[in-house]
Amino acid sequence: MSTENGENKHEKVIIIGSGPAGYTAAIYASRAELHPLMFSGMQPGGQLMITNDVENYPGYPTGIMGPEMMEDFRKQAERFGTRMKYENIVKVDLHANPKKLVTDGGDEYTADAVIISTGASAKWLGIDAEERYMNRGVSACAVCDGYFFRGQEVAIVGAGDTAAEEALYLSKVCSKVHMLVRRDEMRASKIMQARVRAAENIEIYWNTEARDLSGEEKVEAVHVINNQTQEESVIPVGAFFVAIGHKPSTEIFDGQLDMDEAGYIINKPGTSLTNIEGVFVSGDAADNVYRQAVTAAGTGCMAALDAERWLAAKEAAIA
Ligand code: NDP
Repeated sequence: MSTENGENKHEKVIIIGSGPAGYTAAIYASRAELHPLMFSGMQPGGQLMITNDVENYPGYPTGIMGPEMMEDFRKQAERFGTRMKYENIVKVDLHANPKKLVTDGGDEYTADAVIISTGASAKWLGIDAEERYMNRGVSACAVCDGYFFRGQEVAIVGAGDTAAEEALYLSKVCSKVHMLVRRDEMRASKIMQARVRAAENIEIYWNTEARDLSGEEKVEAVHVINNQTQEESVIPVGAFFVAIGHKPSTEIFDGQLDMDEAGYIINKPGTSLTNIEGVFVSGDAADNVYRQAVTAAGTGCMAALDAERWLAAKEAAIA
């Protein structure tokens, strides 16, 4: 394997992805003197880079901006010697020994251990208004942002378990939740549907799609259409939550790592181990349930500790 300079590039540990999971893995791996190399992608920081205030990460009593928090994580990882590459990994051969990785610039690297923390991204409806009002009332995480709209009326789109769970969360914090469902039934599990229907302050709008948002500085109303009757209406709300699913960023591992049908990497329960020895996973790439910065950071720590132990056992076996 060689770089553009023709040198062999072998690393003990390569970390792919730079959200809370990747940076935490980097902090632990560098403090264990594994000298990790991190591929952060072109836009380091992950989903927190599009988050304003983070109020639920322990240790920040007055909250912190998402990008600032990721900057702190990066500095902490670099302080202990993590080296950063602002490039994407576009191809891997994880069955090779050592494992092979290729960047978007065409450079090739090998590594004994690989920690995957490529994360996931929320799916959006694709209407212009989502971008126009991003962080000004538009959010894809009710648990993260619902509290900012406490006491207000809000809207949520989606009809799966995530939407049901988030609608219930919002119903406890907000005065009323307008839930927009595009069909005449919900995909969510029966028990979640029953809870949503039982909540007095959740109003379900069947066969209803969001077309636009309006408001001076921030979201003040959602414009909807009934896709059966074509009747249009405007619902005044302070926030618009999109809960139509997430997509893990795991395409490059397709066919190599075990994944569920949505593309989430399957880890051995209670560990960061994957089906390939020496490949560890952390954060949202393997988590479609919790999806929080703090849980991602926790699993990043697990991945670094698992990698350290695996490398030590491998070295002991050779010696
Ligand atoms: P899902 O894919 O299950 O549901 C997505 C929902 O969004 C569907 O109701 C879908 O509608 C709707 N949707 C998709 N695109 C649009 C659109 N453009 N406009 C309007 N609505 C749209 O995703 P979830 O995130 O809810 O769940 C993912 C997985 O995680 C599931 O297996 C779920 O069971 C699981 N999960 C489990 C939880 C738990 O057990 N506590 C909690 C959260 C998730 P339609 O039905 O019409 O396709």
